[in-house]
Amino acid sequence: MGDPTGFKSIERQLPSDRDAKLRILDWNEFHNHMSEDEMRSQGARCMDCGVPFCHTGDLIANMASGCPVNNLIPEWNDLIYRNRWREALDRLHLTNNFPEFTGRVCPAPCEGSCVLGINEPAVTIKHNEVSIIDRGFEEGWVVACPPESRTGKKVAVVGSGPAGLAAAAELNKAGHEVTVYERSDRIGGLLMYGIPSMKLEKPVVERRVTLLEEEGIKFVTNMEIGKDIQAEQLKKDFDSVVLCTGATKPRDLNMPGREFKGVHFAMEFLHQNTKSLLDSNLEDDNYITAKDKHVIVIGGGDTGNDCLGTSMRHGCKSLVNLEIVPEPPTERAADNPWPQWPKIFRVDYGHEEAAAVFGDDPRQFQVSTVEFIGDDKGNLTGLKTVEVDWSKPIPGGAPFSPIPGTERVLKADLVFLALGFLGPESPVAEQLGVTCDNRSNYEAEYGNYATNVDGVFAAGDCRRGQSLIVWAINEGRGVARECDRYLMGSTQLPG
Ligand SMILES: Cc1cc2nc3c(=O)[nH]c(=O)nc-3n(C[C@H](O)[C@H](O)[C@H](O)COP(=O)(O)OP(=O)(O)OC[C@H]3O[C@@H](n4cnc5c(N)ncnc54)[C@H](O)[C@@H]3O)c2cc1C
Ligand code: SF4
Repeated sequence: MGDPTGFKSIERQLPSDRDAKLRILDWNEFHNHMSEDEMRSQGARCMDCGVPFCHTGDLIANMASGCPVNNLIPEWNDLIYRNRWREALDRLHLTNNFPEFTGRVCPAPCEGSCVLGINEPAVTIKHNEVSIIDRGFEEGWVVACPPESRTGKKVAVVGSGPAGLAAAAELNKAGHEVTVYERSDRIGGLLMYGIPSMKLEKPVVERRVTLLEEEGIKFVTNMEIGKDIQAEQLKKDFDSVVLCTGATKPRDLNMPGREFKGVHFAMEFLHQNTKSLLDSNLEDDNYITAKDKHVIVIGGGDTGNDCLGTSMRHGCKSLVNLEIVPEPPTERAADNPWPQWPKIFRVDYGHEEAAAVFGDDPRQFQVSTVEFIGDDKGNLTGLKTVEVDWSKPIPGGAPFSPIPGTERVLKADLVFLALGFLGPESPVAEQLGVTCDNRSNYEAEYGNYATNVDGVFAAGDCRRGQSLIVWAINEGRGVARECDRYLMGSTQLPG
C-alpha cells in the first residue's frame, strides 16, 4: 500500500468508452486505456485490506463474490502504483492464465466485494488487470515458456473455450503431451464465436493460442468428438481425457409460431456473424443480417446484450429487449448486502448504443411472450406479449401471473432467443458412459472434476452450467491439477 490515504484523496476513474454512435460503425473494441499516471493513481486507491475480500472467490447466494481465480489483487494494485509493471504481470500470471480475456470481459465480482466499495466506489480492479497484461504484451514480456521436460503421458482435451485452454496450458506446463480437439474451425470456444469482436477482438484470442502452440500444445480444429472421432477412441489413444465442451444446448421458447422464418437462437446469430466477419469482413453473406429489420431480443444477460450490440452494428430499424424479470434497483437492496454480487440496474454497451440511436433504453421488464405472429408465407411479422405481475405467483405454476388487458403485438422481423443454456450436448457423455446430473451437466464434483469413468474429467460450463470466463479458467486450472495427480500420483500444479 504505497499511498496510505489514496482511497480518501483519489476518486475512482475509468477511461472513457468510444462514442456510442461512432463505435457502432465498426467492430473494434470500444474501451480506451488510461495514461500511465492515471492508472498509477487508480492503483493507489487500493487499501491493502487485512482481509481482501476481492480475491476470495466464494459463492454467496449462488453468485460469485470476489475473484474466482483468486487473483492477488492488492499486490498488483500496489505494484502498479510503484510503477513495477513487470512484477505486477508476474503476480497476475501466477493465478490467471488469460488476464487479457478477463480484464476485457469479466463482470468483475472482485469489485462487488471490494472493501472500499462498502461506502465509496470500488477500486478499478478489472481495468488495472487489463492494463497490466496489455502492457506486458506491448513490452514483449509475455513469451512462450515450454516445459523443460516431458512426462511421456498423453492428454486429450475436448473443447477449446477458456476451460479447455486453461486446462491445456497447465497440463502442458506439467510436461504432459496435450492435444486439444475443437469442432469449430477456430480455437477459443465462446471467446471466439460467442463474445463479439467489439468486446473481445479476435487477434487477442489468436495471440494467446499462438503462444500455447509455441509451448507445445497441439490444436486440432474441425474435429467433433463423438462424430468425427468416437469418444471411446480417445480413451484408448490417451492416458486421460478432459471434457471442456461447454453448455451449448440453448433453451427454446416453444410458443405458437416458433417455426416462422426470423426466429433464431442468439448463438446462431452471434456465431455466424463473427465467422463471416473473420472470413470475409461480412462480404460472404453467410450470416443473419439485422439491417433495416425490426429486431426483438428475448432475454438479457451477456448473450442478449451481445445480440443488441450486433444488431446495432448491422443497422437495425428498431430494437427491443424483453426481460421477464422486474427491473433491478439502482442501489443494492437490503437482502443483497456487500460482499455479495450487487444485483443492480446496469447499462451495458448494447443498451447504451440503442439509447444513443433510438433515444431510449431498449429494455422492457416484466414482459412475457405469448405467441410469434407471421404472414401466410411463413415469415415472422410480430410478437404477442403480455405484462406479468411477480407479486401474484400462480399456485403450483409460474412465479408470476399475466396482467389481464396488457396483451399487445410488437412489430418484429427478427427475434433472437437469449434464454440461457441447458447443459452440454449428449453424444460424448453417452459414448463414454459419463453420467449427468439433474441439470444435464456432466457429473463431477467441484474441486475433484473426476467423472464416473476412470481417467475422464470434466470442467467449465459442461460441468457447472453456463457461467463466466473466470470460472471456466478456475475450473480449467483445477481439472489440470487433478488430472496431473491422477497421471503422476502427486501434483505441483496450483489451481
Ligand atoms: C454470447 C455470450 C456472451 C458471453 N459473454 C461473457 C462475458 O462477457 N463475460 C464472461 O465472463 N462470460 C461470458 N459468457 C460466458 C462464457 O463465455 C462461458 O462461461 C465460457 O466461455 C465457458 O467456457 P468453456 O470453456 O466451459 O466452454 P465454451 O467457451 O463454450 O467452449 C466449449 C467448446 O467446446 C467445443 N465442443 C463442444 N462439443 C465438442 C465436441 N464434441 N468435440 C469438439 N469440440 C466440442 C465447442 O465448439 C466450444 O468451442 C458469455 C456467453 C455467451 C454465450
Ligand atoms: S478475473 Fe474478474 S473477478 Fe478476477 S480480478 Fe479480474 S475482473 Fe476481477
